[in-house]
Amino acid sequence: MKDISEIPYETDLRNSIHALPVAEVYRVLASGLNGLSRDEVAARRKIFGYNAIRDVRRKSLFIKFLGNFTHVMAILLWVGGIFAFVARLPQLGWAIWAVIVINGVFSFWQEFKAEKAMEALRRLLPVSVTVLREGGQQKIPAEELVPGDVILVVEGDHISADGRLVQESELRVDQSALSGESHPLRKTAETVQQTGMACSELPNLVFAGTSVASGNGRAVVFATGMETEFGKIARLTLSIEEELSPLQKEINRMTRVVTALAVGIGVVFFILSVIVLQRPLSSGFLFALGMVVAFVPEGLLPTVTLALAMGVQRMAKRNALIKKLSSVETLGSCTVICTDKTGTLTQNEMTVRDIWVAGRRFSVSGSGYAPVGRFAEKNKVVEHPVTGELRQLLIASSLCNDSRIIPPDETVSSWTVLGDPTEAALKVTALKGGVDPEQESEKLPRLRDIPFDSRRKRMSTIHEYRGIPGWEGACDFSGANLESGMIVFVKGAPKEILTLSTSIRIAGEDRPLTDEICAEVIRANDEYAGGGLRVLAVAWRPLSPGLGDYTAENVEHDLVFLGLIAMLDPPREEVAEAVERCRRAGIRVVMITGDYGLTAESIARRIGIVGSGQPRLISGPELDAMDDAALRTALEGEIIFARVAPEHKLRVVSLLQEAGNVVAVTGDGVNDAPALKKADIGVAMGLSGADVAKESADMVLADDNFASIVNAIEEGRGVYANIKKFVAYIFTSNMPEAWPFILQIMLNVPLALTVMQI
Ligand code: ADP
Ligand code: MG
Repeated sequence: MKDISEIPYETDLRNSIHALPVAEVYRVLASGLNGLSRDEVAARRKIFGYNAIRDVRRKSLFIKFLGNFTHVMAILLWVGGIFAFVARLPQLGWAIWAVIVINGVFSFWQEFKAEKAMEALRRLLPVSVTVLREGGQQKIPAEELVPGDVILVVEGDHISADGRLVQESELRVDQSALSGESHPLRKTAETVQQTGMACSELPNLVFAGTSVASGNGRAVVFATGMETEFGKIARLTLSIEEELSPLQKEINRMTRVVTALAVGIGVVFFILSVIVLQRPLSSGFLFALGMVVAFVPEGLLPTVTLALAMGVQRMAKRNALIKKLSSVETLGSCTVICTDKTGTLTQNEMTVRDIWVAGRRFSVSGSGYAPVGRFAEKNKVVEHPVTGELRQLLIASSLCNDSRIIPPDETVSSWTVLGDPTEAALKVTALKGGVDPEQESEKLPRLRDIPFDSRRKRMSTIHEYRGIPGWEGACDFSGANLESGMIVFVKGAPKEILTLSTSIRIAGEDRPLTDEICAEVIRANDEYAGGGLRVLAVAWRPLSPGLGDYTAENVEHDLVFLGLIAMLDPPREEVAEAVERCRRAGIRVVMITGDYGLTAESIARRIGIVGSGQPRLISGPELDAMDDAALRTALEGEIIFARVAPEHKLRVVSLLQEAGNVVAVTGDGVNDAPALKKADIGVAMGLSGADVAKESADMVLADDNFASIVNAIEEGRGVYANIKKFVAYIFTSNMPEAWPFILQIMLNVPLALTVMQI
């Protein structure tokens, strides 16, 4: 391994790394196919530090402290104090100044506490990255990346450092944050020889601050922290001003108006009393000062800010992380929640319960992700390992799969999963049937993949069939004509897969997929879905030579249908009660899911989103065909959106908003970002959500739980009510404070409250 100090870092690499072949990329960065070792990471950390953008232009505490003594109201009071001294009322002068100091210190303290609360929150929302270190995949905080690290990125990931791609599949990157280019750019791992391109245009480099729009890839990091392209821009522009919330702005404005009024009245009455009523100067002055001190609501803004910040902190304790203070208010006035089903209303703990394959049904026993359980057909236990089409189904579903299941160890006592729970459940099931996904993937190594996409509602993987002599019989797919030596496995939503399939294998022979068989498959699917089970279909086909590119259009057709896999994803326990709380608070809950209508309806009924009546089920294609007026009417009744793509959410949210609603909407994927931005409250999933979704959201749920949204709304309402009470108090207490002065000046009644006391 090369000495790190020899890395021609920054000067050379930035301008040359795109022109190097992949092997050379690893070499110059002293990295390798297995990533860095722990020791190397530690050594590089010493040289390059943490991968963080430093906040270079933050206001210092001292400046902020001074700010509390120099705003308009404070200056007024300073001047008032001077006048008091000039009028030979030194005690009053001191008292007024003391008021400013006490007020200022108090406000500063409140501001400081509010800011600390927000800072603590930002730390709760770390960005993590998947790296390859010591040969294994790990999730680490983005700050811990060093040059030479090999990062793996998938759709929706935030890219946290500058890197050179060494591998990719259909990778498209959204660089709008960096170069303003609004279209996702196609990236490749190939060497670029062309010269004269701007760094950010190079197709084989990925940059910090950008995100993956689709596909996946692998890159070697060559710059971190302030050395990245983003870090360089950040030096110039970084100072994220926290924008004031509408309420804060309103209070600010009101404070100014009231101050101007108070000063105006003070001056007018001063002139009146001295010139018209011929009162002595000092009493007129005292009056003017009294008005100012009485009316100016100096403590208001900091108090409101603190109330909001404390609300944010309480919400965080209940798993709802708010990114902007203003969201607290908006939450308080929320009237509709549009929510996902899978993972938000349900536990996202998938367990396969039933399988339909080649006209036969098998039940699967066991619980959780432990690969312990049995297959049974009509209550008769099936021999282990399973054979025939069932075996094919298990192989296909566990290879068209990016999840990992992790056995219990010292720290965790149960089996856990990395990746999509839906996919993990399939691997677990394969193991229960005696199919080892590791072994199978050696026989059928994956060459490419067409990643899961919630619009296509499916994913495909392309595998090489190792046609070693003697394997013929051993390969479970050898019956097919494998002339190109490649096959594709596709899994996804049943309706989608069925329409792409043309044949089915039953009892060892290929048969055309007749309407009759299709109807039987749909019957089985509806039966499963009606019971609230989530159903996936699996299919495969041999790929003929000369297919061209492995695109979805070229690959995903004329499939051989294998079967259906039905899994249980029970509703979360707290959800039914949370839905009931919404109902009482007059908040509507609308389910918008990619899953099948019957599954959605069954779950919705179980948790009380729909009553005993028949809700209207609207699917994606139906939604596309509806005009705004029809959809608006439909939105007035009980409604469930099923088999929709994330893009559809945007339209539903817009129409609900037009009807005067304050809408919260949940989302977890890249395609949810527009709806999350459009909503009054965008809610992203903290556990399963993509970085891009979290970035676009106003609120992130640490536990992905619907009940946490409802808790946050309750907190928001509480904070809002408190602020209203406080504002009312300030202004009602100001009037009585002013009356004695008005009476004194008009009727010469002695002062009940002196300026000092106020
Ligand atoms: P949801 O998860 O709410 O069902 P999605 O938009 O995530 O909605 O998924 C849409 C559909 O795509 C799912 O209902 C399911 O049929 C299918 N699907 C989900 N995850 C996968 C996956 N990893 N591979 C293949 N198909 C999937
Ligand atoms: Mg999903």
